[in-house]
Amino acid sequence: MINVSAAARKELKITLQQGEFDLLVIGGGITGAGIALDAASRGMKIALLEKQDFAAGTSSRSTKLIHGGLRYLKQLEVKLVMEVGREREIVYKNCPHLVIPEKMLLPLVKEGTYGSLATSVGLWVYDKLAGVKETEQRVMLDKEATAQHEPLLRTDILEGGGLYTEYRTDDARLTIEVIKTAFEYGAVCLNYAEVVDFIYTPKEKVCGVVMKDQLSGETVEIRAKRIVNAAGPWVDKVRKIDKGVPRENKRLHLTKGVHLVVPYEKLPLQQSIYFDVPDGRMMFAIPRGTSTYIGTTDTNYHDSIDSPQTTKEDVKYILHAANYMFPSIQLTEADITSSWAGLRPLIHEEGKSPSELSRKDEIFVSSSGLISIAGGKLTGYRKMAQRIVDKVMRTLNKKYDFPLKECMTENIALTGGRFSSPDAVKDYIYERIEEAYNKGLNKKVLEYLVYNYGTNTPVVMDKIAAIMQEESDKELAVVKGELWYCVNFELCSTLSDFFIRRTGRLFFRRKTIEKLIQPVADELQKLTQQTDEEKQQALTHFYKEFEEVMTFA
Ligand SMILES: Cc1cc2nc3c(=O)[nH]c(=O)nc-3n(C[C@H](O)[C@H](O)[C@H](O)COP(=O)(O)OP(=O)(O)OC[C@H]3O[C@@H](n4cnc5c(N)ncnc54)[C@H](O)[C@@H]3O)c2cc1C
Repeated sequence: MINVSAAARKELKITLQQGEFDLLVIGGGITGAGIALDAASRGMKIALLEKQDFAAGTSSRSTKLIHGGLRYLKQLEVKLVMEVGREREIVYKNCPHLVIPEKMLLPLVKEGTYGSLATSVGLWVYDKLAGVKETEQRVMLDKEATAQHEPLLRTDILEGGGLYTEYRTDDARLTIEVIKTAFEYGAVCLNYAEVVDFIYTPKEKVCGVVMKDQLSGETVEIRAKRIVNAAGPWVDKVRKIDKGVPRENKRLHLTKGVHLVVPYEKLPLQQSIYFDVPDGRMMFAIPRGTSTYIGTTDTNYHDSIDSPQTTKEDVKYILHAANYMFPSIQLTEADITSSWAGLRPLIHEEGKSPSELSRKDEIFVSSSGLISIAGGKLTGYRKMAQRIVDKVMRTLNKKYDFPLKECMTENIALTGGRFSSPDAVKDYIYERIEEAYNKGLNKKVLEYLVYNYGTNTPVVMDKIAAIMQEESDKELAVVKGELWYCVNFELCSTLSDFFIRRTGRLFFRRKTIEKLIQPVADELQKLTQQTDEEKQQALTHFYKEFEEVMTFA
């Protein structure tokens, strides 16, 4: 296993400044991570720079589904449905502990988006296009069966339902596993490393970047033959730093999507639901452990890209939608336990509303040679990466006689995802129950660890067992073991990295954080040799994020 500890930052920075990289990727969301893995696995020398933490942009703020994109069938985006459907299978195969099959119920309602025949045919076409395996193909239900599947649904407008399979994921952990796998293939990836300027050849072609370390303030120069801008919602901002002239007249169109989290007992659904909203849109309600989350909105966005917020209006809209479809629950603002807001980096199309904009990815190249990629889906990240790396390899080949290699990522299991088959995750847990008991951990903790850290669980478990020799609070021992792993193997440097992107605790178990903040801050200081001032800064920053998920402006 590669050691990518936060203490290794210094060495990583030295490596980044040595020699010239074949490709430098700006952005450590799923798009940049996928490009780094694809290119590194084809033998290229890769650097990836991320200005915040990995996945801190949109890639930790999605609906957290690896899905075939049923919605896009309605917009006749047949090619997109086929591609993401196939990709869904590949992501599942390569990272099964983070991609969990989940039954999704689509209730058919009077004057809803989908009629009974259209749904039946649509889901059938979807099964075929997306290559859905037989056991997961759609089942159509009558009104009674639909109501039995989900007793909380309103029945006065219910006409039936369609049951199909989607896959639930943890978007941030998936991104981090891709980054770690890229490391295994030799990529050098650094978080808190912002690209603030470009370096040019005498012919005004980009040949490097100026990077500012957001933790130390230090600035360094890094050279590369090719540079890809995968900065998600910041793609246009990065393009503006470049003095090259855009070849295509394209720009981003950002739309905001909000999700609200409530305790599971407040919205105790039997399975995930994809339901009609009174204004004609569709929304998800997804049970997850002790919570259920509901979303999303889709509104034009023009404010700060760095910190999209959930507004009172977003809250009102989502609660109204949920209370309309599940009338017996009547959720209020007081029931919300967390929230997140993310920005879709879509490509602008004149005259189209947020929901009508295509989710397809597009590549634009500037006269300086800067290649930018935007649009797309979490689900399709691997294919997007393949397209862009193919393009980069061809241009390198012309100029440097670079050995062209085929994409291999279809068959690269991500670190943590190295199970004998996707179905083997449950066996993996079963086979380790005794070991876990011997180490003082119960089945629930083991399951939690495996669904977070996959085949890397034994490393975390051994550390927890060692910590438990001295720490009598079991929950704290588990958290400290996780923290040790995340710091030493996942470049986790701050409380936010840990509580948001490494464990998802801020979204799904926010209440448990209060008593953990101080001991985790102390432990993090020890593990990363933070000064008292740095520790205080990390605490202040985290408290702000801790409050923000419950502040609705
Ligand atoms: C509400 C919502 C729900 C969604 N649901 C789903 C879903 O369920 N399934 C699905 O498949 N897709 C979904 N998507 C789409 C998916 O989340 C995005 O397509 C994907 O996460 C975009 O990833 P990205 O890497 O392009 O952008 P990001 O994740 O935003 O990554 C870009 C990164 O670039 C970094 N960066 C910016 N500027 C610089 C710089 N100067 N130097 C260094 N780094 C920089 C940023 O900090 C950021 O981390 C959803 C999107 C939204 C908004």
